[in-house]
Amino acid sequence: MQINEIFNNQLRIKELNYVTDKCPLCHSSISPVPVILSHNNYKGAAMFLCPNKKCGNFFISHYENDRYTGSYPKIFIEQPLPDSVKNVSKCFVQIYNEAKQAENSSLKNLYGIGLRKALEFLIKDYCINEKPENADAIKSESLASCINKYIDDNNIKECASRAAWIGNDETHYKRKWVDKDVTDLDDIIQLTVAWMDYNLRTKKLLSEMTK
Ligand SMILES: [Zn+2]
Repeated sequence: MQINEIFNNQLRIKELNYVTDKCPLCHSSISPVPVILSHNNYKGAAMFLCPNKKCGNFFISHYENDRYTGSYPKIFIEQPLPDSVKNVSKCFVQIYNEAKQAENSSLKNLYGIGLRKALEFLIKDYCINEKPENADAIKSESLASCINKYIDDNNIKECASRAAWIGNDETHYKRKWVDKDVTDLDDIIQLTVAWMDYNLRTKKLLSEMTK
């Protein structure tokens, strides 16, 4: 390919209606450097360079009928989760990260099912941590029943209930919450995790510094 052809392609990249602002390899927010564009009437692929000095890798963004469909290759980075919650439920951390890997691979259905399973372990392990005397009952009761019976903190209870409602939609044939999707479920799980973290850290502080 001639230099002027490459230059023309770089100009055409600037005409793309969407260019990703996140490197799929180092996950930094970037303005990617256009390298080369190739397309026919329906499909296109643009190669970019990540300007982050610690990364500096090339990646390819794909387009179909001018619609952006994703950038590859992708590298999965484990989700940062608070230590307090990690200590309460190692299974949650593992399943949640597997769900995020499914999201990373554009496996939306498995992402939703994985989040629902992660939520169950998060809630049940948290309940067992709070009320160890009820461990056997917690293990066999439904998720909704555990949320109602064994969670005292109102913020955790309200968030966990809503996560469970949307979570059920991810595993059932008919959706009840049609305006909510798997991204909302992920957001509410993260909110539940944040409230659990506040609660667990506050309890730890109060137990260490009694009056
Ligand atoms: Zn990068």
